[in-house]
Amino acid sequence: MAAGAMLKHRRTALERVEKFVSSVYFTDCNLRGRLLGARCPPAALSCFQSPQRLPYSRAVGQRFQPAALGDSFGPPWETCWFQVELSIPPQWAGQEVHFVWESDGEGMVWRDGQPVQGLTKEGEKTSYILTSCLKESEPHSVTLYVELACNGLFGAGKGTMIAPPDPDRRFTVSKAELVVFNRDVYELLVDLEILLDMAQLLGEENQRSFQALYAANQMVNVCDVTDPATFPAARSLAAAVFNQRNGESQHTIHAMGHCHIDSAWLWPYEETIRKCARSWVTVIRLMESNPEFTFVCSQAQQFEWVRSWYPGLYAQIQDYVAKRRFIPVGGTWVEMDGNLPGGEAMVRQFLQGQRFFQEQFGRICSEFWLPDTFGYSAQLPQLMRGCGIGRFLTQKLSWNLVNAFPHHTFFWEGIDGSRVLTHFPPGDSYGMLGRVEEMLKTVKNNKDKGRVNHSAVLFGFGDGGGGPTQKMLDRMKRMRDTDGLPRVQMSTPDRLFSVLEKESSQLCTWVGELFLELHNGTYTTQAQIKKGNRECEQILHDVEFLSALALARDSSFQYPGSQLQRLWRLLLLNQFHDVLPGSCIQLVVEDALQYYAEIRRAGAQLQEEAVYSLCRDLLQPESGHTTEGTLVLNTLPWERTEVISRTGPAGEEVLALVTAPSMGYTIVREPVPPLQPVTVTEREDGSVTMENGVIAVSLDAMGRLISLRLADSEREAVADGCCANQFALFDDVPLYWDAWDVMDYHLETRKPLTTVLKPLEITLAGDLRASARFSLQVGKSSTLTQEIILDAVCPYVRFVTEVDWKESHKFLKVEFPVQVRSTNATYEIQFGHVQRPTHWNTSWDWARFEVWAHKWMDLSEHGFGVAVLNDSKYGASTHGNVLSLSLLRAPKSPDATADITQHRFTYAVLPHQGSFQDAGVIQCAYNLNFPLHTVPAGRAQCPAWSAFSVSSPAVVLETVKQAEDRPDALVLRLYEAHGSTTVTWLRSSLPVQEAVLCDLLERPLAKNHLVLEQQGMRLSFTPFQVLSVLLVLRR
Ligand SMILES: [Zn+2]
Repeated sequence: MAAGAMLKHRRTALERVEKFVSSVYFTDCNLRGRLLGARCPPAALSCFQSPQRLPYSRAVGQRFQPAALGDSFGPPWETCWFQVELSIPPQWAGQEVHFVWESDGEGMVWRDGQPVQGLTKEGEKTSYILTSCLKESEPHSVTLYVELACNGLFGAGKGTMIAPPDPDRRFTVSKAELVVFNRDVYELLVDLEILLDMAQLLGEENQRSFQALYAANQMVNVCDVTDPATFPAARSLAAAVFNQRNGESQHTIHAMGHCHIDSAWLWPYEETIRKCARSWVTVIRLMESNPEFTFVCSQAQQFEWVRSWYPGLYAQIQDYVAKRRFIPVGGTWVEMDGNLPGGEAMVRQFLQGQRFFQEQFGRICSEFWLPDTFGYSAQLPQLMRGCGIGRFLTQKLSWNLVNAFPHHTFFWEGIDGSRVLTHFPPGDSYGMLGRVEEMLKTVKNNKDKGRVNHSAVLFGFGDGGGGPTQKMLDRMKRMRDTDGLPRVQMSTPDRLFSVLEKESSQLCTWVGELFLELHNGTYTTQAQIKKGNRECEQILHDVEFLSALALARDSSFQYPGSQLQRLWRLLLLNQFHDVLPGSCIQLVVEDALQYYAEIRRAGAQLQEEAVYSLCRDLLQPESGHTTEGTLVLNTLPWERTEVISRTGPAGEEVLALVTAPSMGYTIVREPVPPLQPVTVTEREDGSVTMENGVIAVSLDAMGRLISLRLADSEREAVADGCCANQFALFDDVPLYWDAWDVMDYHLETRKPLTTVLKPLEITLAGDLRASARFSLQVGKSSTLTQEIILDAVCPYVRFVTEVDWKESHKFLKVEFPVQVRSTNATYEIQFGHVQRPTHWNTSWDWARFEVWAHKWMDLSEHGFGVAVLNDSKYGASTHGNVLSLSLLRAPKSPDATADITQHRFTYAVLPHQGSFQDAGVIQCAYNLNFPLHTVPAGRAQCPAWSAFSVSSPAVVLETVKQAEDRPDALVLRLYEAHGSTTVTWLRSSLPVQEAVLCDLLERPLAKNHLVLEQQGMRLSFTPFQVLSVLLVLRR
């Protein structure tokens, strides 16, 4: 054996190199111990603390008190400002000098009034580079301010990450000093780390593993840590390995810097503004010294926050956006929940987002970006396509608890047939560190190997972690093209998707929803947020519709465009993927409920103004008349005959049966008697029967349905020997993610509610409305009171429910066992519906034991079915013949008070003949959610007026609003709701001058002018197609 040759002992060689770079062992003599040179404390350190998040200009004017290392600060959410006086020793000339700061709070360095560096220990950001080579001419005395938030990267949880914030938690500063940073030592350390990783991870079957190991071992031999002159020789040994190139077939990784920032989660919205600034200023510093570095950034709302709070930083970001290095992605206002937002709200996420990006940066996004959301609606591909987006990136389905999703790169096809190219980064993460291990996993785990040869790696610490680090970039520089490792290049979403598009000929297609087999409790948790969302979607719908009519009728009407934008943005913000799902802390819930209150308050006022403008003449009393009628407005696109409740002359509640025209209004004066009054009878056994000529229901003393029939039919809807409207309580203890998860095994703990507090008693037995009320005990300390209501002519029975909820880790549902047999149930989603199995045949079937729906769900066999409607619930399931609606949960983390309050919600059950489409289930669910508006009128009558109607019952005219860019035009959004190919006439009584089809961003589609004919405008639809029409009004 030649002298100096290495012995064939892999383990000692590996461990020798490990010790050479260890930050724990042998730092007195190893390379790592030489990373930092001389150090020096600050000349002075002082601080002041505030419960407010003050702007810099106000903060620096406060009285600062002397502070010392080890001092602690708190409670959570307060802010401590430090003034740091630094004096760099002159003998450090020629050296790289860092200001090092370590704390368990999140910090921002300010210099000369500008934010310059985010500091977060958990994100490996503990230094601010003062100079890369100290010159004598440079100022050696520097004053910095450090703004320290009293919260960590993941808030201030007590014990575990998702525990509620600890009010007693304190935050300390453990290090504040100047140090000399030895860049040459650092570069060698990165070289050795990569070689060590190659040696360990490529494995003994791979010769490259040995080459890397021998190179690293040899580097230790040549390196004298006390003599930097020996370093270049060591570095060239490493370079020799890194410069051995791959063959042409090697996989290419598109690395992009990223920093997933939850818009609110374990911290409030206000803190997110600072998280964005801390992270993005750090990104800008890295961009300045790394010309290849690219960074992708989503959520228009966060850009808007930084624009208004940090204009100086925002200007720098704009520069890098123009250089295509700081890359806005996603196209949405926030990274919203992918399941629960309504169809129009989903459109607005894109409309607000894309318009913001266009306005601010001159271009819209071409990729939808939702890496962290809990499932993806089957309607999203069409909405993306309609908003100029054909590409989608996420990775969350890697969290599936049961089934591994079979693709990483594939076409995703929505319910209407729209397709988007979809990529899941195969490393199953959106916060990688640029390590060798992740690059190897990206190739190994890639389920579309051999079909496509390109993948994404998103690197950077998320949330408060401040995104990428210099070290991550330096690691990947060494992996650019090194034999044995995938090629790693800095890239952009556009470059990645462009090559994937070229390679896409062999890709598979996934049809329908991307269901996340986890976090299924998020359809139910924080019921008040869910209710706020549903209600505010309805409020904004109605305000826009009524304001649009007011505008069309009177061009001097001021359409409240900017106010509506403000309110929409509040609603859209609350749809963020930890707020609407209910997985946030109590502080966030309070903010969210306040935003809903603001939408309700401002919405009510705007609605009043629109109605006043639209119906001014009808509201004022006619001269000489004292009679009063009631103005009834219908914001839905079909005629409705319903019982309304209004206030009588003596302040009493008066019921009336009214017929309101499609998207219009009428005045009612005298109550019209129903052709068939509602009857109600009580039997000796306490059971009550109600009938209205449409349906007949029988209830037992516990309020359960013992019979539900269509009038004049013997066909029973309730399953034999069962009771519907049966409440059941389940134990609800997940494995970890408390607010998020309901586990499969909760189904094994079902306990029906049977303790009656007040048996059923009739509360109304009038012609127009019958009702009966009862109360139940729920669990140990909660109560439930329900009013069961049947109105004249109404095809469904309503259950107005109040719950005083005081449970812990319990799940309340209501069940409808029905006499219907089908292997699939149908659930409403955005602008359409999906079917899901009612059986648990395969793992894919039973993994969907708890699913989401919007306003209705239905179980039908040929010729007959039963639908359950709701006004604010989203969790549901159908197993066998039992439809279940999920009502309330009681998780304790991250909000210990979640849902412990009074709840009020309504659901309804509707038996029907024929299909749910022909039976009008969709329309009934809208009716339940969009009550008729009633306003006292000065006139006794007026001709019924309808602004819009559609001839096909399959088509829903969902939205009427002012066009964003044309004050003289309206935008109408319609969709095909039955899943059929159909033609409809859109009729309008408004002065329409011109009509043209447009996309969801309201851009007219070429050659798509609609002919204005006698019957209206002819529109043809394919199943679930969404169409938008730009209507220019005649002036
Ligand atoms: Zn997230």
